[in-house]
Amino acid sequence: MSINKAILLPYPIDKAYDYRVPEGISGQEGSYVCVPLGQRQVPAVVWGQGANDVKPNKIKEVVSEYHLPPLPVDHRKFLDWMAGYIMAPKGSVLKLTMSVPSALEPPKPVMGYVINSAQISNQGLSPKAQKVLDVAQDGLARRASELSNLAECSSNVIKGLAEKGYLTLKEMYSAAPCRHPDAKRAGADLSDAQAESANVLIDMVKEDKFDTALLDGVTGAGKTEVYFEAVAQALKQDKQVLILLPEIALSNAFLDRFQKRFGCAPALWHSSLSPAKRKLTWRGVAMGESKVVIGARSALFLPYQNLGLIIIDEEHDPAYKQEEGVIYNARDMAIVRAHMGGFPIALVSATPSLETIYNAWSVEQGGLGKYKHLVLPERHGGAVLPDIKLIDLRADKPESRQYFISPTLQGALEGNLARKEQSLLFLNRRGYAPLTLCRNCGHRFECPRCTAWLIEHRRSKKLHCHHCDHNMHLPSKCPECKEEDSLAACGPGVERILEEVTERFPDARVAVLSSDTATTHDELKSILKQIYDHEVDIIIGTQIIAKGYHFPKLTCVGVIDADLGLSGGDLRASERTYQLLHQVAGRAGREQKADERSGRVYLQTFSPENRVMQALVAGDRDLFLRVELSEREGAFMAPFSRVAGVIVSGRDEKQVGEVARALGQCAPNTKDEKGRAIQTLGPAEAPFYRLRGKYRRRLLVRADKAIDVQKALNHWIKSVSIPSAVRVQVDIDPQSFF
Ligand code: ADP
Ligand code: ZN
Repeated sequence: MSINKAILLPYPIDKAYDYRVPEGISGQEGSYVCVPLGQRQVPAVVWGQGANDVKPNKIKEVVSEYHLPPLPVDHRKFLDWMAGYIMAPKGSVLKLTMSVPSALEPPKPVMGYVINSAQISNQGLSPKAQKVLDVAQDGLARRASELSNLAECSSNVIKGLAEKGYLTLKEMYSAAPCRHPDAKRAGADLSDAQAESANVLIDMVKEDKFDTALLDGVTGAGKTEVYFEAVAQALKQDKQVLILLPEIALSNAFLDRFQKRFGCAPALWHSSLSPAKRKLTWRGVAMGESKVVIGARSALFLPYQNLGLIIIDEEHDPAYKQEEGVIYNARDMAIVRAHMGGFPIALVSATPSLETIYNAWSVEQGGLGKYKHLVLPERHGGAVLPDIKLIDLRADKPESRQYFISPTLQGALEGNLARKEQSLLFLNRRGYAPLTLCRNCGHRFECPRCTAWLIEHRRSKKLHCHHCDHNMHLPSKCPECKEEDSLAACGPGVERILEEVTERFPDARVAVLSSDTATTHDELKSILKQIYDHEVDIIIGTQIIAKGYHFPKLTCVGVIDADLGLSGGDLRASERTYQLLHQVAGRAGREQKADERSGRVYLQTFSPENRVMQALVAGDRDLFLRVELSEREGAFMAPFSRVAGVIVSGRDEKQVGEVARALGQCAPNTKDEKGRAIQTLGPAEAPFYRLRGKYRRRLLVRADKAIDVQKALNHWIKSVSIPSAVRVQVDIDPQSFF
């Protein structure tokens, strides 16, 4: 007899629909099935028992079932919970998991080599060939490339062994990445402090229940070495592990390190992965074969069979927030995922977010004491932290308005060049100049679709909008007053700093590292290698350079505009600026020992008295965090309240304004019977009032954490009539607070 099951489709719908499961199809919960939708047949997941709310003659039938282990119940519970929390349709959240439909089909078999079990004498084999056989000794089938990688030899050695009969070819149905990481290899010799933290993490993995730790240590303290120990422990327990990194920190250096430690490459997941690799990772994870995934935020949604540990490196990084489509914070959702799965999670940072430190500090320290707090206070091997100095641009002025490097920084760069040490100039702004204006009439070039100036790029001789794809050729005269040669570039971008450096240090070898110069992984890899090999004297970089890199010869960092990012009045601006500058500063002098000159960092600023600058110079992160926390508390902001942004957008400015005003008028602004508050600010213009041709207004709700804010938001938004051309989006736990 056939039965009905509720089946969730990866489309923006909130409900799982009933389908009939015919005989011969298991229809077990979590299994991937193919179902009719209109004229098409689409993949979907069996979500639960049927509601039997469809007339028997109307109900459609499941077409087929894919041969994969079902999506585990904790993953499904997690998606259900997340949809409710971020107020997104369940199907849209399922789509995050069903991201590679083609991976549901079994891959074509590939050929792999296995060792020939019939005894053949190994005598007379070259050491390289012997090494291949040592690797193959475990009897597993491997592709030639995998084998040559592991044995560090060319593919000819493998071909030779096959011809002589030592290896034979066999069909392999799965070429899943990272099937056999070696957890028994010795890791680094840990210092006492490192070992202490590692042991706490290892014990958490052994206990195999939900728990959260913050691994908090200065850059270079060995946090990666420490959490690798926890990864090894999880592998010994035959669990899958997820290491989340911000996209741009997914560097080859990091992957090499993983490979060295575990003897195989991790399964990768990031936006520039080829479709074929994407498919392999997805399927490998779903089959439970790929053991360690290293990925950007969306790797959280892969269909793990047996996840037992999550590590979130650089937990404070804003890249964990997905701002478009389904809006979520991968760090927060990962904690929920661990909770649902009943396994531990470790957050890792040198500059933890306020939300995290508040949870990690004990009650005596003014926090909640919810997380284990593991502190590594020193750099590994006695490397000393860099010496941070402020350059007051009001007094220490660059020579002319066309220059942006102050005399003091100039002197520091000269000294470093003379000593043959490397320097980094950091400016988080791509292109040549952030603003172009007409000296005659004052006309400014603005994006016609966004509230943003057009950025001049000299390399391409164009003006670009960094928020949409709008761009135009830089004209020779002002489009407003028609004056010839009247256009002036205002302010610096990295290209302009390159011009200044080339002019002042004609003999220096200079490289620019931004998303314009490193557009592919390969380009990035090649620039990073040049820097690592000290083929570059002065690096000019955007935030791409700030993350995690270790350049042994880099001893001096100059920040061109330390104030960038502080303006705008967002409550989170100070925190972000502190994190970024701290991270950049952490690139300096990573191998300088106590008896050597420490790394030097110069922050050029117009406001040296600002508490971000003062905290950086004094190296007093915790004091800074305490002051920030007390401000947040005073403002009834996260982490002391639950914050939600409501964004109203559309092409018709008037309509958008009307909806925003209507929402504002009936916005929740009350205290409930228990005295718990919910307050709404706005409507105000959103940070980008116009973005890609749409107008945007925004309201901000702050609520006592005990209040069901999703329920309140739902009720409120439903009470206002919203024309179809206007979109109302909810952003729970937004990144910016204005
Ligand atoms: P973090 O992640 O805290 O910035 P890393 O784990 O990257 O620090 O360590 C910084 C550098 O020091 C790396 O090159 C790492 O290999 C090395 N290192 C850290 N701890 C040890 C150790 N116990 N033994 C040997 N090298 C170590
Ligand atoms: Zn634009």
